[in-house]
Amino acid sequence: MPRAWNFSAGPATLPEPVLRRAQSEMLEWRDAGASIVEISHRGPEFMEVAAAAESALRKLLSIPDDYAVLFTQGGATTQQALIPLNFAAPGQPADYVISGHWGKTAMKQAAPYVATHVAASSEADRYRTIPARDTWQLASDAAYVHITANETIHGSEFRDIPDVGDVPLVADFSSSIASEPLDVSKFGILYAGAQKNLGPVGISVVIVRRDLLERDGQPRADIFDYRSQLKAESMLNTPPTWNWYMLGLTVQWMLDEGGVEEFAKRNARKAALLYGAIDDSGGFYRNDIDPAVRSRMNVPFFLHDEALEKAFLSESKAAGLIALKGHRVVGGMRASIYNAMPEEGVQALVAFMDDFRKRHG
Ligand SMILES: *Cc1c(COP(=O)(O)O)cnc(C)c1O
Repeated sequence: MPRAWNFSAGPATLPEPVLRRAQSEMLEWRDAGASIVEISHRGPEFMEVAAAAESALRKLLSIPDDYAVLFTQGGATTQQALIPLNFAAPGQPADYVISGHWGKTAMKQAAPYVATHVAASSEADRYRTIPARDTWQLASDAAYVHITANETIHGSEFRDIPDVGDVPLVADFSSSIASEPLDVSKFGILYAGAQKNLGPVGISVVIVRRDLLERDGQPRADIFDYRSQLKAESMLNTPPTWNWYMLGLTVQWMLDEGGVEEFAKRNARKAALLYGAIDDSGGFYRNDIDPAVRSRMNVPFFLHDEALEKAFLSESKAAGLIALKGHRVVGGMRASIYNAMPEEGVQALVAFMDDFRKRHG
């Protein structure tokens, strides 16, 4: 089977030029006499790769100087546990706004360390909405307020950054980082696992306002300490060098393509095309999310007749469209259309969906 249009939610499709570049550098990285994953992370070659990745990311996201950038092992889930350890006193309240599966996970990971408090939740509405800011009940002495910028499974996305006053806003951007321009200064901490929009799985990015690193947090091992990681330039122990290198290539590719302004336009067009195909299908396809907060990255949809799901999946695969099965938590179908998914891929999906509807409608 040739390379297909891959709608996987994560690990997700990577830009083809990035894969080709990595392929061409696989045996010998420049003059190193070895690949980038076979040499010391403390040597000049890898140090250069690491520094270039950080400066590209800073440029791509316009990260202000008073924010530190950490490249950490463990996924986004690990950061969900490390954030309370680093930024909250034992048992201190921390507010969680739950708009889907990942918000719940974040709260679960924090629960051993802080008094997790549900400030708002759209669970009763089956996560078809994001709770309006004026309904949030924030704890009075919360260490932070946690949101999930884009709910990868349920398919909703904050379209405005909520104002939470002086309390640091912590946001899980795993599935929407770099998808559009972002005002980093509105956040205390942003974090993202790489495998949706930044590269292959195995590395996470944590962007943290430097003054927050002065908080004492809770007793923790050095390896779980963001301050120590920053001091060691994210090399307290052997970092995931391959992933860091691939992240750097992916971020540089985004810059070369025109940066987040360009991806915002492409992503808006892709999402409009796909939601249009769903909404104009006369009920054959259905997406239940409040249109005001529909995700531009992850588009879950259902067929009007569940019995057609198997045929949809096998026929789409035969048409060169893979990984359209929805997450088991919600069922149905899901198309993830991150930055690396070209518009051509979404056009192919929409053409297939129209054809499938005509044949089975
Ligand atoms: C994928 C994802 C996670 C989990 O990431 P891991 O790297 O598997 O821990 C957390 N939050 C969001 C929003 C995600 O999309």
